[in-house]
Amino acid sequence: MMTTTKVLNFIDGQWLAPKSNEYLENFNPATGEVFSLLADSDHRDIDQAVEAAQKAFKSWSKTSPEDRSQKLYKLADLIEKNIDDFAKLESKDQGKPWYIAKQMDMARVIKSFRFFAGAILHSENECNVMDAESMNYVLRKPVGVAGLISPWNLPLYLLTWKIAPALAFGNTVVCKPSEFTSMTAAKFCELLAEAGIPNGVVNMIFGTGAKAGDALVKHPKVPLISFTGGSETGKKVIQSSAEHFKKLSLELGGKNPNIIFADCDYKKMLATTLRSSFLNQGEICLCGSRIYVEESLYEKFLQDFVREIKELKVGDPSQKDTFMGPLISAQHLEKVQSMINTARDEGGKILMGGGRPELAAQFSKGYFLEPTVIVGLAENSTCMQREIFGPVVTVSSFKTLDEVIEKANGVSYGLSASVWTSNLNTAQTVAKNLDVGTVWINSWMKRDLRVPFGGMKASGLGREGGRHSMDFYTEMVNVCLTTT
Ligand code: NDP
Repeated sequence: MMTTTKVLNFIDGQWLAPKSNEYLENFNPATGEVFSLLADSDHRDIDQAVEAAQKAFKSWSKTSPEDRSQKLYKLADLIEKNIDDFAKLESKDQGKPWYIAKQMDMARVIKSFRFFAGAILHSENECNVMDAESMNYVLRKPVGVAGLISPWNLPLYLLTWKIAPALAFGNTVVCKPSEFTSMTAAKFCELLAEAGIPNGVVNMIFGTGAKAGDALVKHPKVPLISFTGGSETGKKVIQSSAEHFKKLSLELGGKNPNIIFADCDYKKMLATTLRSSFLNQGEICLCGSRIYVEESLYEKFLQDFVREIKELKVGDPSQKDTFMGPLISAQHLEKVQSMINTARDEGGKILMGGGRPELAAQFSKGYFLEPTVIVGLAENSTCMQREIFGPVVTVSSFKTLDEVIEKANGVSYGLSASVWTSNLNTAQTVAKNLDVGTVWINSWMKRDLRVPFGGMKASGLGREGGRHSMDFYTEMVNVCLTTT
């Protein structure tokens, strides 16, 4: 059984201790205290889970779309029924304010299951009449046991963005959530039986990426890996999976430009830019961490931006008026702070933030950081080039369209961008010329689950969402049928 203090692996419908019989400490990032222990799994646990998933695949892959759809709808309903508990647990484990965990994370978890439960009832397959005798039709088969690996920033949100389509299209799964945020993944497993999902269809292995994650990526009986995480880890996943020619989807890091033209809807832009900079403590791959402002608006923007940031409350994640909680871990806080120090060394000015906010004694060991704004950095400086993944943005000015496009594209990443302008020509020109997977014009993080989601360059490989998820989670067989 899972308890609040010890999280065991979930394999074939059973809670099992890791073969190592060792556990990892899991910290509450707001207090720095250990609040649970996680199975420290290795290749032996992965082997057992893959075997269970292979066995379950034999029957799950033969179920009808209607059957799977009903079960996924039921699962969504059960999560919705327990939404407050899920949100509180996510908040405690990850650090984000609970109402953000509820309104952003859990709402999206539910939406993902409902979206794919509906999508499989409406998908169509290709059929092409070739000549008087022959026609081609496409059979779609589930791929098999899917290996799903997720990061700590949007824990259940990103894990279920993988689980929902994988199950909907008839695959079974072995999941490895981040060692920093495993609690809601464990809670999720408690609902599977009630939703009618058979044992072995979903298996959850806890532990580190180096041991459990790597074993999953290398496993010869896991033909598909969907991975979300950092770009350096993504490279390792490519290398480790190469031996077995796996299907890969990699959603990796970002260093996203937020491009602001003087003719934008200023009020909307300012409010959204606060969110795109600091929502979830800036720990969202889509956050606009490089802000480029047209020269004529630059000074006004900085003044207003800084004034608004001062109003953002950083602190207790259980309070409704808290906008930012702690960062995920002591190591990550240290990494983000060292990036701020590097920015100083490289000639940047810390316009605001950079330190620890003053908080009540119970949070004295929490991993909090003030929202931080840096100006005056060169384009090739470390903080303009590398992903920081925290509440830190750089702001610089630009004069021309060509200049800002070149700057926006001048990093190794290519995940997303926001463009703020009321001029359609400007918007279209920028969108066409940016090397990123998603461009938001006059908005940020508006997600339609039908659209292709993914990145270019070091931000990833492949696209997921709608029919792109169908392409990824199925194998196509073209049947050429000729009458005799
Ligand atoms: P990591 O790359 O460190 O980890 C991601 C997952 O991979 C974790 O579950 C981790 O395990 C696991 N892992 C680590 N090493 C290996 C390995 N060798 N083989 C297999 N799995 C491994 O990323 P973070 O968790 O730090 O997440 C932050 C990163 O994720 C940022 O770069 C962010 O931009 C990116 N991201 C991208 C998104 C996108 O859609 N493009 C969305 C959200 C985040 P463990 O942590 O347990 O050790």
